[in-house]
Amino acid sequence: MSPIQTNLQGVKARCHAAIAGRNVRFQEAVSLVAVSKTKSDAEVREAFAAGQLAFGENYVQEGVKKALALADLAAHANSERVGAGIEWHLIGPLQSNKARLAAESFDWVQTVDRQKIAEALSRHRHSHATAGLKPLNVLVQVNVSGEASKSGALPADAAGLAAVVAALPGLRLRGLMAVVENTRNEVELRAQFRVMRGLFDGLRQYAESVDTLSMGMSGDFEIAIEEGATMVRVGSAIFGARNVQETGVAA
Ligand SMILES: *Cc1c(COP(=O)(O)O)cnc(C)c1O
Repeated sequence: MSPIQTNLQGVKARCHAAIAGRNVRFQEAVSLVAVSKTKSDAEVREAFAAGQLAFGENYVQEGVKKALALADLAAHANSERVGAGIEWHLIGPLQSNKARLAAESFDWVQTVDRQKIAEALSRHRHSHATAGLKPLNVLVQVNVSGEASKSGALPADAAGLAAVVAALPGLRLRGLMAVVENTRNEVELRAQFRVMRGLFDGLRQYAESVDTLSMGMSGDFEIAIEEGATMVRVGSAIFGARNVQETGVAA
């Protein structure tokens, strides 16, 4: 087995152990998004060959390039793959001028943090160019740590923005996403994950399509699962350390 395949198995085993150890209130399955930013087409192919379907990219153009290069892994390209094709998640900040490209190329956008971007995605997903595409799966990103460097709607604004998304054509509101503070303080981490779980439970009362709470990365995904994540986004624990410095530039 290649290192990527070994890592993938290890991460999945750790997810299952965390699911088994979590509070009985949290019954949902957990899905794994493999974060492939800065990684090559060949590395994504390798993870796909090991059964990984969902991949996360931070930059629209990098994601589009990979999706094109790996179009043979998409469900529509090969009837034998129906229901089990590769799936692309945008997990980095999105600027309006990239909304069209994102709406046309991704299956999920996890970083909707304002009404304007939701409307732009809706307009471009609900057009002639995208006829035949399923609605775009959308998560509202919440800045739960309150750090100025983080994007995301304020926790108090999340439900309102989710209602906007739910009402827009071409979009399917699936839930919430957060990047919690990068800290080793487990008490603080758990507190932020719990705020997210509270918001998620509230949202679920009101919108039937809501089933996803995306939180947890390589350093903290087990804690996130214990606190009720239904989706984790894991990069370096699967693909190894990223060699390219992250710039923090918006997608
Ligand atoms: C890079 C990134 C991840 C994955 O980070 P790792 O620590 O490598 O697992 C997850 N979510 C977001 C939003 C990211 O930018």
